[in-house]
Amino acid sequence: MSESVLLYGGEVVTPQGVARQDILIEGERIAAVGPDLAVQRPHARQVDISGLVALPGLVDVHAHLREPGGEHKEDFHSGTCAALAGGVTTVLAMPNTSPPIVDRQTFEQASALAAAKAVCDYGLYIGATLDNAAGVAALAGQAAALKMYIGSSTGSLLVDQRAAQIAHFEAYPKDKVIAVHAEDEAAVQYYAAQGQRRPPICAALATAHTLTLAGHTRRRLHVCHVSTRAELALIREAKARGVRVTCEATPHHLLMTIDEERADRLGSLAQVNPPLREAEDVAALWAGRDVIDLVATDHAPHTLEEKRGSAPPSGLPGLETVLPLLLTAVREGRLSLPDLVRWAATRPAEVFGLARKGQIAPGFDADLALVDPSAEWTIGNEGLLTRCGWTPFAGWQVRGRVEQVYLRGRLAFAAGRVLAEPGSGRNVIS
Ligand SMILES: [Zn+2]
Repeated sequence: MSESVLLYGGEVVTPQGVARQDILIEGERIAAVGPDLAVQRPHARQVDISGLVALPGLVDVHAHLREPGGEHKEDFHSGTCAALAGGVTTVLAMPNTSPPIVDRQTFEQASALAAAKAVCDYGLYIGATLDNAAGVAALAGQAAALKMYIGSSTGSLLVDQRAAQIAHFEAYPKDKVIAVHAEDEAAVQYYAAQGQRRPPICAALATAHTLTLAGHTRRRLHVCHVSTRAELALIREAKARGVRVTCEATPHHLLMTIDEERADRLGSLAQVNPPLREAEDVAALWAGRDVIDLVATDHAPHTLEEKRGSAPPSGLPGLETVLPLLLTAVREGRLSLPDLVRWAATRPAEVFGLARKGQIAPGFDADLALVDPSAEWTIGNEGLLTRCGWTPFAGWQVRGRVEQVYLRGRLAFAAGRVLAEPGSGRNVIS
């Protein structure tokens, strides 16, 4: 018989709200949530979590773990350690690795690496190329989703030809998600020649075009990292007329402006695709929260040396900072705790079909982030578990710290240390 654990004394965020509740874990699952469960289950091992708030482990649907090919800046072990430190218990890993994950052979290679090294649960994306529509459709059952780069970013994956885009939307299964990096490549190149880096029109063009494709083919479109008022207006209108579209926003687009890149403070360190935006666009994201289904980190580590080089790569690490930053936003009254949970755990699990993830409720996996909501601290580069070793949020004062993380009923992270063994993470798709 599997062990029973009773967490008592903490506040618990459930779909119904926030309340003092006990959580009974049996084996890998949550067996019950409610007051005074100790009376019913005297045999359970009792763990006092007084002073802590229990959230469902976050589900991050957009993470670049860099393996294979970029192990000098991250791999499945270091990236999933960073995830646990950030209260994230499930990550969906992007396919723009080296080699990219675009066929059965590369998918199986990446699956074996993840299975051996991950310390949190995971799923793997498969990448669209100009000519692999039939191949990726055949692998759809094993993949977290299809990732299509309409505009170029890190790596070689790019599907900037209309015919290939249509072929993918026609071929991919109707119940599976097609996640799109929506920046129009021709517009990106045009503006680059004018000395402008990816202005908002690049994102709006690609989003409008892709929404049309999704509507016509009745496929499930997920727009990655929306960052502008224009994208939100397009997605709002498409949702209203029944297009099957969801979208995500990143902590960096929600919390930083392009001034971070212009100013001396971060400069090229803040370079990311799509870029950080003007304050009006950032305000539009907060005002348009009803259209944004979920928060995803787009965790995209590069070394400081790479970021400070002559041709800095785009991307920012984000797994370890997402939860403290969102808890601070709760403190500031910008969203509620149930909103945070819906945005960063429940809805991501729903959109990507992870039936046992994202809620503290009976039958769900016992994935928990236990946070101290009143801990005040300053984010720094020291002690980060991501191999790249830096964060664009260094120096930010935050309120709320991840103290313990449970993965399927087992304590996987506590007091700043990962306790889970490499290989204890499980593939949530197959
Ligand atoms: Zn990304």
